[in-house]
Amino acid sequence: MTNKFTFGPVPSRRLGRSLGVDIVPFKTCTYDCIYCQLGRTTNKTTNLKEYFPVREVLQEVRQRLQEFPRPDYITLSGSGEPTLYSRIDEIINGIKEITDIPVAVLTNGSLFWIDKVRESVLEADLIIPSLDAGDKKIFQYVNRPHKDISFKKMVDGLCSLRSRYSGRIWLEVFLIDGVTAIKSEVLKIKACIDRVAPERVQLNTSVRIPAESFVDMVPKEKMEEIAGLFNSNCEVIADYSGTHNLREFTSTREDVLELLKRRPCSIEDISDGLNIHRNETVKYVQELLDRNFIRMERRNKRVLYSSKL
Ligand code: SF4
Repeated sequence: MTNKFTFGPVPSRRLGRSLGVDIVPFKTCTYDCIYCQLGRTTNKTTNLKEYFPVREVLQEVRQRLQEFPRPDYITLSGSGEPTLYSRIDEIINGIKEITDIPVAVLTNGSLFWIDKVRESVLEADLIIPSLDAGDKKIFQYVNRPHKDISFKKMVDGLCSLRSRYSGRIWLEVFLIDGVTAIKSEVLKIKACIDRVAPERVQLNTSVRIPAESFVDMVPKEKMEEIAGLFNSNCEVIADYSGTHNLREFTSTREDVLELLKRRPCSIEDISDGLNIHRNETVKYVQELLDRNFIRMERRNKRVLYSSKL
């Protein structure tokens, strides 16, 4: 069976080993974030649609769970904004009929002002929305939202989700050096977060290649300082922590390519993510480079590989 909708299990900074389920086509999103690791949005929309048949998605999830060691989470995320999938509730419930592995929804949080969207994620075990700005000006600059989404609607939507949803919310704040990693901006973001009242606040920054080259990573020490401005539930999420020693399984160069189609990775990221030896990873990467399927880039002293396909 091909990996049309699923990827990984990949190491996740927050979720351990996570089986990704991608339910919208590549770069279909309500935002076009300047920091997006997937590149610029090609289909900016707020149209809710059944992009792929529910039955096919669930069939592939079932198959992948038989092939691989048990992941820590099944995560709806991937190539765009998963809440644009009109039947996401059926995907969540369908996964829960297959397995008791917790289901997480990784979302930009832009559509929870729409009743149907808010109601459709209530059965998830964990929701990880984003909030990257403290006012409409920075929201427009950083997230470049669809014209139907205002800053107020987005924040009100997150508050409504909080009052309706009984599961855990971990809010991710993506900080950009010189733009939002400034005390005055952080305090504005914090005021919004205080209204949403998530269980955790997780600070992230541009450790992978962003959509726009002018986006700068915030140094770690500065991130720690900023975390101090939040409450004790705030943490800086380190890249690729929490990988587990599950039993060995075989990965092929196709798995490496699938992973690199989703996001740029270093050799270590690929080894950890697919649980293969570093030497084997180097071999696959070299083959993919030779065949011109992937490219190599340097960023912040790291060498990252990404798909050209
Ligand atoms: S970072 Fe997420 S929300 Fe922003 S454009 Fe990329 S996929 Fe969409």
